[in-house]
Amino acid sequence: MRPKNVWIRQLQSTSYHTDNTASPRNNSVAITIFSTLVTARAYKAPHLLKIVTYVSPYVSFNIKKTIMIINLFQKPTEKCPRCLGKGFVDNDDINRLNKKLEWASGKCAYCYEKGKVNKLTVSNIPADLSYLTLERTKIERWKLILGNKKAKKRAKLYQENLNDLINHISKQYFVGELDFETIADLHFARFEKHNVSVKEKKEFIKYIGEVVKERKEKFE
Ligand SMILES: [Zn+2]
Repeated sequence: MRPKNVWIRQLQSTSYHTDNTASPRNNSVAITIFSTLVTARAYKAPHLLKIVTYVSPYVSFNIKKTIMIINLFQKPTEKCPRCLGKGFVDNDDINRLNKKLEWASGKCAYCYEKGKVNKLTVSNIPADLSYLTLERTKIERWKLILGNKKAKKRAKLYQENLNDLINHISKQYFVGELDFETIADLHFARFEKHNVSVKEKKEFIKYIGEVVKERKEKFE
């Protein structure tokens, strides 16, 4: 599944591009990367070798992470907690995980349609993590699984931005008693979005309607 609509998709840009800093490549990092490569070879895992080479500039390695990565290559045994093994997130899953205002149905971004995941994934990524959609790169997913602090921070920021957007709309409608059109204009002004097309505005107004419908009980 992807974020519900283009407006939610854009939220990531406010916090997403802050972390491309490679970890300092000091000797101990180099040594642990080397030992990972040696272990990967011993395990006869060419795909692991490839991934280690690919992610090494991004993740600082240590023995614990090396073991975690090796564990990831074991056959996944756990039923995907997001799609319940279907490989597809439908409206029932979206309701169950309370993501109606956040996700659109589609391929499961948690298990990549496999229906099963590794234990490590289940223990490190909550099934309802809003940030983990098909929009994320594989590297970002790896970082989340391995508990990378910066990736976790991006996920947290994304959720905060999303909550902020939904709360803003709700307050403007229920407390400020503004109409959909005005709320949309204020939103575009807030995010400095100029030259918004009629179609984009229509889509956002539709989203405001969904927020109002979902939040009605809370404000009555
Ligand atoms: Zn799944």
